[in-house]
Amino acid sequence: MHLPWCVRKCPYCDFNSHAVKNEIPADDYVNALLHDLEQDLPLVWGRPVHSIFFGGGTPSLFTADQVEKMLSGFRSKLQINPAAEITLEANPGTTEYDSFSAYRDAGINRVSLGVQSFSDDSLDALGRIHGREEVETAIQSLWASGLENFNLDLMFALPGQSLNDAIADVHSAIACSPAHISHYQLTIEPNTAFHAEPPPLPGEDLAWVMQRNCGQLLSAAGYRQYEISAWSKPGSECRHNVNYWRYGDYIGIGAGAHGKITLPSEESICRRVRLRHPTAWMQGANSGESLAEDRLLESDERVFEFFLNQLRFRDGVRKSQFSARTGVDWIKVSARVEEAVGKGLLLDENGLLKPTELGWRFNNEIQAIFLP
Ligand code: SF4
Repeated sequence: MHLPWCVRKCPYCDFNSHAVKNEIPADDYVNALLHDLEQDLPLVWGRPVHSIFFGGGTPSLFTADQVEKMLSGFRSKLQINPAAEITLEANPGTTEYDSFSAYRDAGINRVSLGVQSFSDDSLDALGRIHGREEVETAIQSLWASGLENFNLDLMFALPGQSLNDAIADVHSAIACSPAHISHYQLTIEPNTAFHAEPPPLPGEDLAWVMQRNCGQLLSAAGYRQYEISAWSKPGSECRHNVNYWRYGDYIGIGAGAHGKITLPSEESICRRVRLRHPTAWMQGANSGESLAEDRLLESDERVFEFFLNQLRFRDGVRKSQFSARTGVDWIKVSARVEEAVGKGLLLDENGLLKPTELGWRFNNEIQAIFLP
């Protein structure tokens, strides 16, 4: 579920998020989401749902009552596993819209908190609306609410950040004992304020040292890196994201949301993308015309997407899963896999493909080999 509003737009953000101008049309948006879901139901009849993710934007700008209404609506239309992982993205400084206890009572059982840094200077340089104090308040409320399965998003290689600053952020995150930490490098994306006026960032070599040293700290604290940016305590991997990265199926509803559904009858995969602008999407959702794109993926797109996602995993992927997930014969990619192995980027161990240390560091080089 994409909920596309934020208090204001961060200068590095290229997500489909929109600064709140007056008031969010939250009730209308919730009704439109339930209409929008109807369009995808014929593609997924009888299939159980194992996870739900309220992403954004800043979903914590919606109240717990609105979240509960969405979940009740989904339960009436879909077969939702009683043990489903149900995540709400939240930002410190927005939790006054409702309490984590209220979200838990509404059915949320996991929270992903957009901390980004514990340093007031770094948060200021990132244009975030919160400071360290709001981060600490939000984490205390998470513990008090009983929502112990939470993720902290943390970025490194920030404007003006030193190696010691990056390490201090990871120490602060570990001290909060979250079940999961997403630790990723700030990158400058086109169509952002930072792209127009780039801030002074640490160089690539320093960024790599930050990543390596912070990774050592996270490992020593009992977190396991199961994906390029994802670290978790044992058993606390994000099931929703694991499904994306394992190239599983998902419905995406809301402004600009993407979905991917395997159609066994067509031996293919359907990609659906919703209209991007919230107003246009809401009008479309209410009249059953919210799709900006609805098409079957070409075989070379399926090959690329499969490797793009699966080779983000530390544990790699079994070759035997390739044809089952893509509908493409292994022979079509064997030469490219051999090329990646020959360049020292991939290991092929008895049918299990894994990035080497070199491939782990230069994952883009692997992806380039599988580009359509
Ligand atoms: S809070 Fe997140 S989604 Fe919203 S503008 Fe900032 S980075 Fe983008």
